[in-house]
Amino acid sequence: MTEIKKNEVYTLKITGMTHEGQGVGRINNFTVFVDGAIEEEDVEIKIIKLHKSYGIGKLLKILNPSPERTKPFCEVYKRCGGCSLQHMNTDAAIRFKENLVRESIRRIGKLENVKIHGIITMENPFYYRNKAQYPVRKVNDNLKVGFYAKRSHDIIDCQECGIQNQISDRVKSIAKEYIEKNNVSTYDETTGKGLIRHIITRVGFKTGQVMVVVVVNGKSIPKKEKLIDELIREVPQIKSIFINVNREKTNVILGRENILIYGEKSITDYIGDFKFNISPVSFFQVNPIQTEVLYKKALEYAGLTGSETVFDLYCGIGTISLFLSKKAIKVYGVEVVEEAIEDAKENARINGVTNVEFISGEAEKVLPGMGIKADVVVLDPPRKGCDERLLDALAGIEPSRIVYVSCNPATLARDLKYLTEKGYEVVEIQPVDMFPHTTHVECVVRLSAT
Ligand code: SAH
Repeated sequence: MTEIKKNEVYTLKITGMTHEGQGVGRINNFTVFVDGAIEEEDVEIKIIKLHKSYGIGKLLKILNPSPERTKPFCEVYKRCGGCSLQHMNTDAAIRFKENLVRESIRRIGKLENVKIHGIITMENPFYYRNKAQYPVRKVNDNLKVGFYAKRSHDIIDCQECGIQNQISDRVKSIAKEYIEKNNVSTYDETTGKGLIRHIITRVGFKTGQVMVVVVVNGKSIPKKEKLIDELIREVPQIKSIFINVNREKTNVILGRENILIYGEKSITDYIGDFKFNISPVSFFQVNPIQTEVLYKKALEYAGLTGSETVFDLYCGIGTISLFLSKKAIKVYGVEVVEEAIEDAKENARINGVTNVEFISGEAEKVLPGMGIKADVVVLDPPRKGCDERLLDALAGIEPSRIVYVSCNPATLARDLKYLTEKGYEVVEIQPVDMFPHTTHVECVVRLSAT
């Protein structure tokens, strides 16, 4: 076998894709990952990283471009860590996501013959995000406000992002101008010194209301009034401006303390007919248009007739619980973040919903002691999936149906395997494209007791 060397140039055929959207090929049986390459393409690459069992190739030339290759719509696409599927056309991106689900279910879940529907795509897959978090940093007096580069904390200054709401870009430019004109210092991750860390925007898509949060390594900012005046003059939709205090040396974006410096303490938005209050710390799905599609599917899979008791586990601010409440006798939401439970209670109140109850705690610990049986259980865990103790406890609750909402096909497949061993059948899986142009895919699964 020829020895593969760093900085050498090779040609290879791309024979598969990773779940992160990289092309994979082999040079004499040695695996190489190539960003930006598509299956079936022959590519010329330079080995830029060499590990024992694999290498990373930098794409130099595409010898036979795939017919599914398309020109990325964003000028910083190659460096940004955001939408890594922009070089694929819509058909290829859809196939990539559907394959990801199918392969996880087959390889990790060891489930054959499961009905997996075609992914539900977005009609207009641009400017769909309602929340932007822009890191801020001066590098040699050059101010950058934008996004982290792929696998790094370098900041890419980006004028317009194709997936963020356009108001967010406008707010970012105003904040940038304020920092530059007033020579405000920016946070340096290595020294822990400097003031401004992040600019965050949240936009209510149905109400048009905007919230701005300036994350600061301190308690105030110089010439605060100038920033406020400029923001509300240029973007009158702004209803709320906060300073968030974060003095820790951490990658976590938000600190604990929020100081309201203008307007209201929250903005509102709607998903379906339900109204939600959004505060700086609230978790709220980032693509509100597809969230409605997702929740409707979850409601359909729950198959409620009006007489069921339902558990909504990992309920966040109670969004799914409220959707379910219309057709259930009683819904119990369980969530580990206490502030989210407070928001959930408030959300039930402002929507006049009285048949929901919210409990704070880890679902795996709360569930065994609840002493109530549920007809239907909805699960919507974070990327790491469900704790095994929770899946064990589910069996004791004896729900006749389970609806599993997942943002990670790998942990979904693992958990479905476990549930099938506990007496549940996977009836169907519906992938939903909540994050177009990125490698992420959301799924809703219908399970029933066998
Ligand atoms: N269903 C909600 C939130 C889903 S995100 C929505 O659609 O908006 C997953 C949620 O699970 C987060 O709110 C997170 O705080 C919560 N969570 C994480 N681990 C948990 C656990 N062990 N028990 C309960 N909730 C948990």
